[in-house]
Amino acid sequence: MITLIIPCYNEQDALPIFYQEVTGVLSGLHEEYELIFVNDGSTDRTLQLLKEFAESDAHVFYLSLSRNFGKEAAMYAGFCNAHGDYVGIMDADMQDPPALLPDMFRLLKSGEYDCVAARRVSRSGEPLVRSWFARKFYQIINRFSEVEIADGARDFRLMRREMADAVVSIKEYNRFSKGIFGWVGFRTCWYPYENVERAAGETKWSFWKLFRYALDGLINSSHALLSFASWCGTAMAVIAFFMLLFVIVRRLCFGDPVAGWASLVCIIIFIGGVQLFYMGIMGQYIAKTYMETKRRPHYIVAESNIDAKKFD
Ligand code: UDP
Ligand code: MG
Repeated sequence: MITLIIPCYNEQDALPIFYQEVTGVLSGLHEEYELIFVNDGSTDRTLQLLKEFAESDAHVFYLSLSRNFGKEAAMYAGFCNAHGDYVGIMDADMQDPPALLPDMFRLLKSGEYDCVAARRVSRSGEPLVRSWFARKFYQIINRFSEVEIADGARDFRLMRREMADAVVSIKEYNRFSKGIFGWVGFRTCWYPYENVERAAGETKWSFWKLFRYALDGLINSSHALLSFASWCGTAMAVIAFFMLLFVIVRRLCFGDPVAGWASLVCIIIFIGGVQLFYMGIMGQYIAKTYMETKRRPHYIVAESNIDAKKFD
């Protein structure tokens, strides 16, 4: 059986198109399947639509979360309640084209891979600034994190039960799925495709939300930033030592005291800034550790048409 998890947040415009398309594709596969829609605290008609689908179609299950927990939590809720031998994850906005599913499924079933993940080879239709930042993000994260995260990788992927179990076993509160999928390992096949624009509705990601997400992802999958402070501090101490030597020698040999109120102030402010910057980075890690230690559930299900795991 194939389980598809679809996180939905205010997707009333895209859902009917998606549902029709994905049902068409899946029924052509001649495999058993279930669709788990996770309503992530939508404020529009998303939940009503899901109930309508569920009424007329026994393949449709929905989990409605008690508020907007974010896409990561919505995906996790889906994973915790997925029972298929193959588990897939897809956006509801048709940016993960259902038409790719048969090919991806064929690759997965061949037994050569444990996971088939879609990867966009173009970012057409996306704002240029955003594409630039996205590319830089992947360069940076791949440099500093121990796991490889392919540029253009999406959350859209199909995996075997074993890998889905591994993903569920990772219980961290601050989830960054792309990092988690990489971390659990398994043989992954990258399936390239051209970017598709959203069929209806709007993206839930503003530039700043995406920026924060990228920063969180970096912090979650690497602690390289923490060691920057020591490197930077060491370098500064060495430079300061030679500057001191220079000043002493000049004073002793040439009797030339260095006048420099302005430069002194600049240096103090500069070093103060660097210190605060690193304190900020440490603060980020401490905040994340704090959230982890609280052990709150990732999601809370308020309503569902299955006997769902209510929180985890
Ligand atoms: N989504 C969600 N919770 C959120 C934000 C988004 O479940 O808080 C879902 C959304 O409904 C969609 C998917 O995550 O199915 C991707 O969102 P979106 O299309 O806005 O992101 P983009 O494709 O622009 O990165
Ligand atoms: Mg989208």
